[in-house]
Amino acid sequence: MSALPAIVAAIYGLFFGSFLNVVIYRAPRGESVAFPASHCPSCDHALRVWENVPLLSWLALRGRCSHCAAPISSRYPIVEAMTAALFALTALVYGVTWEGAAVAVLAATLVAVVFIDLDHLLILDVVLIPAALVGIASALASAATHGPRIGEALLGCVVCAAIFGVLYLATRGAGMGLGDVKLAAVLGLYLGVELGLAASLAAFVVGSILLVPALIVGGRRRRDAVPFGPFLVVAALAALYVPDVISWPFHLGRLPFGT
Ligand SMILES: [Zn+2]
Repeated sequence: MSALPAIVAAIYGLFFGSFLNVVIYRAPRGESVAFPASHCPSCDHALRVWENVPLLSWLALRGRCSHCAAPISSRYPIVEAMTAALFALTALVYGVTWEGAAVAVLAATLVAVVFIDLDHLLILDVVLIPAALVGIASALASAATHGPRIGEALLGCVVCAAIFGVLYLATRGAGMGLGDVKLAAVLGLYLGVELGLAASLAAFVVGSILLVPALIVGGRRRRDAVPFGPFLVVAALAALYVPDVISWPFHLGRLPFGT
């Protein structure tokens, strides 16, 4: 297998990650992602082209603004590198296909979801909606080649939303937010019923293992101060890229799109 598609996907991922940094910062603040152009948050210095190259600029500037020398968060290159890695992985697992493009859109969305949830305890509709539309379009398109996919996608959406919806209602929003329910619904569109269930279960297991000690150590911290989104995202990424690992209790061992 040629490594070229993965390398090209990684380069796309670097630039997409650069855009995600803008989304992660501006979307929760209700700002436009298009205007104004990127600028230093400390001194408003507008970034020149060479200062806005993903990953490389941060390294070349040694993490400081060229104008005021204010530190630039390492979050920026981390988001770019993560997106590049996920895009490369998508190309390796799904190949250069429409399904691969859809998975890349979902993966990029999940990167934004994680960091916005960590910062603000929010999962925004405006971030989820594009992935939901692409998920539906992809399910409709793959119906032509892989049988009736849209039915399974919609069922996965309903089942995953129902699981988290019941928990949301049962805990009166203290355990998880409505955003987690919506995120689960979008993931269900991509994963279908079986992998969606496997990912939901894995998110609870990973969440319990990591959160229970944190709550004990943290004492009486409010339960709703813990973002659940990142656990769902980790489980979903596992379901997308190593489905046989996440679904071993169910013996599924296949990719969500049946490719
Ligand atoms: Zn500056």
